[in-house]
Amino acid sequence: MTKEKVPFLCEFMNEAVVLSDGRVTTCCMDPLNQNIFGSIYEDSFKELERKYVDNIRRVAEDAHSLPRCSICYEKIKASGFKPGKYSVNFSEQKKKDHLEQLSSLKRMVIEPSSICNLKCNGCMQQRFDIPSYRNAPRLDMDTVFSFLEGNLGQITTIRLYNYGETFAHPESIPFIKRVKSLSSETVVHVATNGLMLDTHEKRKRLVESSVDRLTFSIHGGSQESVEPYMTKVFNFEKVMEILKDLVALKKEYNAAQPILEWKYLLFEWNDNDEEISKATTLAQQLGLDSILFFVPGYPSPSKRFMNNPEQLAKLGQVFKQG
Ligand code: SF4
Repeated sequence: MTKEKVPFLCEFMNEAVVLSDGRVTTCCMDPLNQNIFGSIYEDSFKELERKYVDNIRRVAEDAHSLPRCSICYEKIKASGFKPGKYSVNFSEQKKKDHLEQLSSLKRMVIEPSSICNLKCNGCMQQRFDIPSYRNAPRLDMDTVFSFLEGNLGQITTIRLYNYGETFAHPESIPFIKRVKSLSSETVVHVATNGLMLDTHEKRKRLVESSVDRLTFSIHGGSQESVEPYMTKVFNFEKVMEILKDLVALKKEYNAAQPILEWKYLLFEWNDNDEEISKATTLAQQLGLDSILFFVPGYPSPSKRFMNNPEQLAKLGQVFKQG
C-alpha cells in the first residue's frame, strides 16, 4: 500500500556523508547505508551536489521518498513528534528558507575507516558490525582529496569521522594537512578514542597538520568507570598521557589549535558526582579547552540528567569558569 505523502524538513541534511567505500549518504543517522545517493568514485563534486540538493527537495515533499528518512519519520511519529531537528506542518516560507539554506553543499562528513579498534558495549559498531555493511573498510584518501580539491573553497566544515576510528587509517593525518594547506578556512574536526595516536611522532604530525578540533571520547573519570562501556581494551592512563603530550605540543608550537575536548557520555554507572569531578579536574589539570557532557540514547542513559538539560549544561560551565 502506498503511504500518504508527508512533507518533512530535516536539519541533519546540512551535510553529505562519504562512507569508507566511497558511497555517499544523507546523514550520520544512516549507519547501515540505506539512503545512498552517489559515490565519490563515480560522481564529480558538482554531480553529487546536484543529487544532494535534489534529495532535500524530495524529502521536503515526502519523508517516505528515502528509505532511512521514512524510518526516522515513523519513529518520530510514534514518539508523538517530540521537539527535534525537524519540522512537520511547516509554512511555505519555512520550506523556502530551508531549501534556500541548503541549496549548496557546504559541509562534508568523511569516514576514513569503518573499522574501530574498540567495540564499545552498545555502540553501533558492536550492535551491527558496521564494516560488514561497507564494500571497503578504508577510503582512498587521494581520491577523496581529488574529489574535493577544486571545491574546497565552498566547504566550511569537514567532520573527519563517522562510524569508525579515524586514526585507524594511516592517511588521515596527511589528508588533514593537504586540506588545511589548500583551504585554511575549512574547519577540520575529528572525534577519536585517542588510542591510535600512540606515538609522539604521530601526535606531532597531527598538530603540524593544523587540524582545528579534536574531541576525545572518554566516558568516565577513571579506568573503572570507562570500562562498562568502553571495555577493558580502553586504556585510561595511556589516553591521559596522549592528551598531556598534545597540550605540550600546542605550547611548543605556540598554537591555539587544535581545540582539545573531552567528551563524556553519562550512563547510569558514571553519572555520579565523584566520577564527574575526577574527569573535570583531570581535564583542567591537563590544560584541555573543554569537557562536554552528553546523555546518550543507549544503553542505560543517565536517569539523573536525561530530563534535566539545565543541570547537564551546568557541568560544562563549571569547567569553563575554572
Ligand atoms: S530524516 Fe533521518 S535519515 Fe533522513 S536526513 Fe534526517 S536524520 Fe537523516
